[in-house]
Amino acid sequence: MRGFQDKVWDRLYRSHTLKNVPNAYIFSGPAGSGKESLAIQFSKILNCQNPNKFGCDNCSSCLRILQLQHENLKLIFPLPAPANNSSSPGNLIDSKNIELVTKLVAEKSKDSFFKIKVPGSNRILINSIRDLRKSIYLKSDNLGRRIILIFDAHLLSMGQGEAANALLKLLEEPPKRTSFILVTDQINLVLSTITSRCQSISFPRLDDEFIFEWFSSKISNIDEVNFFVGLSDGNIHMAKKLILFQKQELVDLINDLIKVLLSKNSSMWRKFVQTYSKLSKDDLGMFLFHLTLLKIWFQSTNRLVINISHHLHKTQLKSGMERFANLYKNVDYLGIVSEVEELKNALTQNLFMPLSLTTFLLKIQRKINIK
Ligand SMILES: [Zn+2]
Repeated sequence: MRGFQDKVWDRLYRSHTLKNVPNAYIFSGPAGSGKESLAIQFSKILNCQNPNKFGCDNCSSCLRILQLQHENLKLIFPLPAPANNSSSPGNLIDSKNIELVTKLVAEKSKDSFFKIKVPGSNRILINSIRDLRKSIYLKSDNLGRRIILIFDAHLLSMGQGEAANALLKLLEEPPKRTSFILVTDQINLVLSTITSRCQSISFPRLDDEFIFEWFSSKISNIDEVNFFVGLSDGNIHMAKKLILFQKQELVDLINDLIKVLLSKNSSMWRKFVQTYSKLSKDDLGMFLFHLTLLKIWFQSTNRLVINISHHLHKTQLKSGMERFANLYKNVDYLGIVSEVEELKNALTQNLFMPLSLTTFLLKIQRKINIK
């Protein structure tokens, strides 16, 4: 499947046809913009036996790349550190995790938008880079180009940053016919000594047209499609989460959240603070999902006020946005969006959630200008 990130693809394809593929790329841009997917497809055309713009998807090389099983393709992603008393000393992955990792990679091969997330993994292990070092300078009889894909590359610098330093050494003496593709949503967290050795390719969010087609292939009701596209905000991961809900559930969820934000009722606040403190511990992904819905609602309302169209304006959420815009005339929309982002950061910094949530409500009310 193609039809997303066409401009980025044209640029990559051109470097391939000009035989001008660098030793290292860094693909960066917002979450869910198709960076990993495109990196896999690029590896495919670099090794396809019947060169054409998108890879033939038929030769043995294409098939093996699509299965993520090609000897020219190496995947590196965050893994949990093996326990010291590991049953399989010297191995990269604890034996109990091998099955899971194999399953996740298989999932990724079926759906290149699938995000590999091994529970308990918060960094790229130094051993992953050491393993790579052992094999990377060996001669290979394979034609084509060896590709090392490093997903969540910002997690190279976690801890003491040993993985980042080890990778840097490889980038300094790159093997022949080899390209590294580092992929990250947070390029600001990647060491500048690494980024400076990579050709930077920045990805915009996905086009609404692409997300629209994605939903249209799964849902027939056009109102619902517009609704889901509007809330996806060009993020395929968000789209996949949204489709697990009924439209009405999401409408109610958003309306309830807005109601709390506009309320002065102390018992409503208390309940909000309790519920979301708990959710932040029990299901972080769901917590962030709710915040994202809130952010998109405010962004869309802002667009309504300044007359820029948005998919959500074609949905039943519009009337609520209009009511809001009529009631509150001096809203600092950008300020609200950055407060939502700040609350997300509070989570990563392990701040005391009940306090962060109460402060959040107070700040939002000030930015809405509730008298
Ligand atoms: Zn092929």
